[in-house]
Amino acid sequence: MSRDWVNLGVNYHATPWRFQAIWEDGAWSEGELVAEATITLSEGSTAIHYGQQCFEGLKAHAGPGGQALLFRADQNAARMARTAERLLIPPPPVELFLRGVEATIRANPEALPPHGCGASLYLRPLLIGVGDNLGLRTAPRFVFRVFCSPVGPYFKGGLQPIRLAISPFDRVAARGTGSFKAGGNYAGGLFASRQAKSLGCDEALYLDPQTRSFLDEAGSANVFGILPGEGGAPDTLVTPASDSILPSITMDALCTLAKDELGLVVERRPVPVSELPKLRELACAGTAAVVTPVSAVRLEDGSEITLPQPVGEVTKRLFETLTAVQTGVAEDRWSWRRVVATKAAV
Ligand SMILES: *Cc1c(COP(=O)(O)O)cnc(C)c1O
Repeated sequence: MSRDWVNLGVNYHATPWRFQAIWEDGAWSEGELVAEATITLSEGSTAIHYGQQCFEGLKAHAGPGGQALLFRADQNAARMARTAERLLIPPPPVELFLRGVEATIRANPEALPPHGCGASLYLRPLLIGVGDNLGLRTAPRFVFRVFCSPVGPYFKGGLQPIRLAISPFDRVAARGTGSFKAGGNYAGGLFASRQAKSLGCDEALYLDPQTRSFLDEAGSANVFGILPGEGGAPDTLVTPASDSILPSITMDALCTLAKDELGLVVERRPVPVSELPKLRELACAGTAAVVTPVSAVRLEDGSEITLPQPVGEVTKRLFETLTAVQTGVAEDRWSWRRVVATKAAV
């Protein structure tokens, strides 16, 4: 299959196979590959009434030999289990999660974009409550499914900065479900995101819901800033520590790379809005966003903070270092890669 890999965008492109397992009567089924891209479910299902549902997102990149490389998939498995428990969903065992992800990759060898083109294979594990129900209680049955879709590079032709607008809305409640990848956390963000766009920005930047004085995160990405080191001291990467943000696996990897590869000081702590003018660089981090530089932040009063470096040097180096590990070009000192042999591989 020859495709215009670079112009795929982030859209759903159906592939021939997906993996599915069912939880019923207290146990998960073995799981199997299925061809049907649609799911038939009872109109009484909790997933469609009460949002008893969660998901994950991860990417496989083709390595130099054509093999599929998963990035920190064990972390996605653990996060889905943690989210499931919070939603009274029986957590899929890590073994089932990884087997489902790998089976999906292997069953769709034509969907893996070739090494070096910038595109990747996005994997979407999802977990939904199904079966006859009406009252607000946990579902009698659950479906775990993994499907995949090739996605284009986030950036065509170099890093392009985006603009964020501090949102008048909170993403989640204080002491709510913000640190879990629950579908219900995202519907409310559609409006906030649209509002940010209507103000000439690309995405909403949320504040902590408790005090609204600290940075939380963007719609589906964590944020980090670079504080310049004084008098020859190394720069500092600062990223918000908060109970209401989704702990990004990408952000966690960037903290490690910043320390181990770039020699930066790394601080995970509450980041007050008032610290924005001190940052030399600001960027978003996540599986979809990878590393996206931020050139400006619009405050609620309509004023704007412009970053001194719209595409920061450290941001650029972090992007390059991360993608080199993900695509199998750089050494993996942290055992982050998981090799999935495919038919296309030599
Ligand atoms: C998925 C997600 C992220 C990014 O997490 P990764 O593990 O890096 O993909 C960040 N914020 C939110 C709200 C998310 O849903």
